[in-house]
Parts: sequence; structure tokens; C-alpha cells
Amino acid sequence: MIIYIYLNTIGLESLLLISLKSNKLYTNNKRVSQTIQKHQPMKTKQSGCLICGADLVYKSAIEEKNCFICLQPNNSNAECVNGHYVCDTCHSSDAIKVIKSLCLNYSSKDPIQLAMSIMDSPAIKMHGPEHHFLVPAVLLTTYFNTIDKHNLLPEKIAIAEERAKAVLGGFCGFYGNCGAGVGTGIYMSIVTGATPLSIREWKLSNLMTANSLRMIAEAGGPRCCKRDTFIAILEAIDFTETHLNVKMQKSENIRCRYFDNNKQCLFSECMFYTT
Ligand SMILES: [Zn+2]
Ligand SMILES: [Zn+2]
Repeated sequence: MIIYIYLNTIGLESLLLISLKSNKLYTNNKRVSQTIQKHQPMKTKQSGCLICGADLVYKSAIEEKNCFICLQPNNSNAECVNGHYVCDTCHSSDAIKVIKSLCLNYSSKDPIQLAMSIMDSPAIKMHGPEHHFLVPAVLLTTYFNTIDKHNLLPEKIAIAEERAKAVLGGFCGFYGNCGAGVGTGIYMSIVTGATPLSIREWKLSNLMTANSLRMIAEAGGPRCCKRDTFIAILEAIDFTETHLNVKMQKSENIRCRYFDNNKQCLFSECMFYTT
């Protein structure tokens, strides 16, 4: 009880420090944790660990860990140097709402412009699996806007959201399969109605991912969810025009405005970097 009152009189940042020191109390007391979340909006970091902002470390072995926010157990090999693990769902939940809302309210045809307006929201972190949904969502939005079928969007975006959940955080490095690139395959599959038994649609969906992945890989590591998203979207715009004869708008001279939060930014080596 003493702790409950204390937690409600201080900021969540201090609260998390306390929970660090007495981790057992926090992780074993779901009620306290839920009460806190109800009264206090979660303040999270834009880069690195969502809880403390420290660097993430990736181990070779997968272990069962409890998410620091929802407390649910998950298998993962990622945590921050201070031992925080946050599951993909908690990492992306606010972001998913922002992505859906901005896409469903967008009436133009420029996927890069839409992607950047979404990325400007603090709900979208510098890196994270929300980009695996962001990519197909903005492409579907601008594709269906371009062919004047905006009314189909809620259904199509819901399918993309479901599929993107299977593309886990860290897919790029651990599966050789950047989630932004996979996002373009999800987009193409939905637009063409591809299934594993399709012929032309199957080919287009896999070619779409292949083209994006090649360009993303050629740009070199380490991963940057912004750079990889821009590359994937640009590839998808060209691919869509070539193979589906639908021409979305293509932003010229994309200037990244997010690099301040990227500890691994390539700076002048990145095609989207300008001072
Ligand atoms: Zn941390
Ligand atoms: Zn969680």
C-alpha cells in the first residue's frame, strides 16, 4: 500500500527506477502495475530500450522472458543492457492505432509523405516492428486512393495488420528478411489477392519482396527502420507502376528528419541523410 501511494505521487520514470531496484515486487504484482498504467500514461523512449533508453543487446540464445510492461512470458533473445525486455505487442500497440488512423484519414496518393507523417508521431519509435505494418498500410492506402477505391481500405488494412504481426522485431538480422521489405510483399499479396496457389499473383508478391530486400541489403547495415522503410516504399511505387500500371505519387529528395534518435545512423553514407 505504501508503494501504491508513492507510485501515484511521482512520475513513471521514477517508478520504473524503483521497479528496477525492486523488480520482484513489480513483476509479481500485476494489480499494482495495471493500476499505474491506468492512472499514468506510459512515457517511453524514442530509441534503444523503451523503458530506460539504454542500448539493446541481442544474444545468440533465445530465452523465456517476461515483458516489462504486460508481464506476459515470451521467447526472445533481445533485452537492454539493464535487463528490460518489452514484447512486440507492447512495443507497437500505440503505433498500430496511429498508423491505422492516419491511413484511413488520408486521401492523397503519396506513400512517403504518409509514412513520414506517421513517423512524426511519438508513438512510432526510431526502430521497431511497427514499421512492418507501416509499410503495407501506407502502400495499400495510396494504392486504393489512386484507383479511387478508398472504401476498401478498412478491410485491406485489417488484413495487413494481421499478417504483419507474424513479422517479428529483429527479422532483418535474424532471418535475413527485413520486415519493411516483407511489408511490400504483404502489400503486393493483398492488392493482387495472392495465395500460395496463385500463379502470376504469387510471382509478383515474391518478386516485390525480393526487389525491396535487394535494395535494402545493398544500402548496407546496420538496420535503420527509417531508411529501410523509405527504400521499400520507393521500390514498391516503381514495381506497382511497372506491373500493375498504377502510378502512385513518388516524393523526390527525401530528407530524413529522424537521425537524431538513431545511434547507428550512417550519416553521410545514407542516401536520405542531409544536414
Ligand atoms: Zn532498459
Ligand atoms: Zn508486453
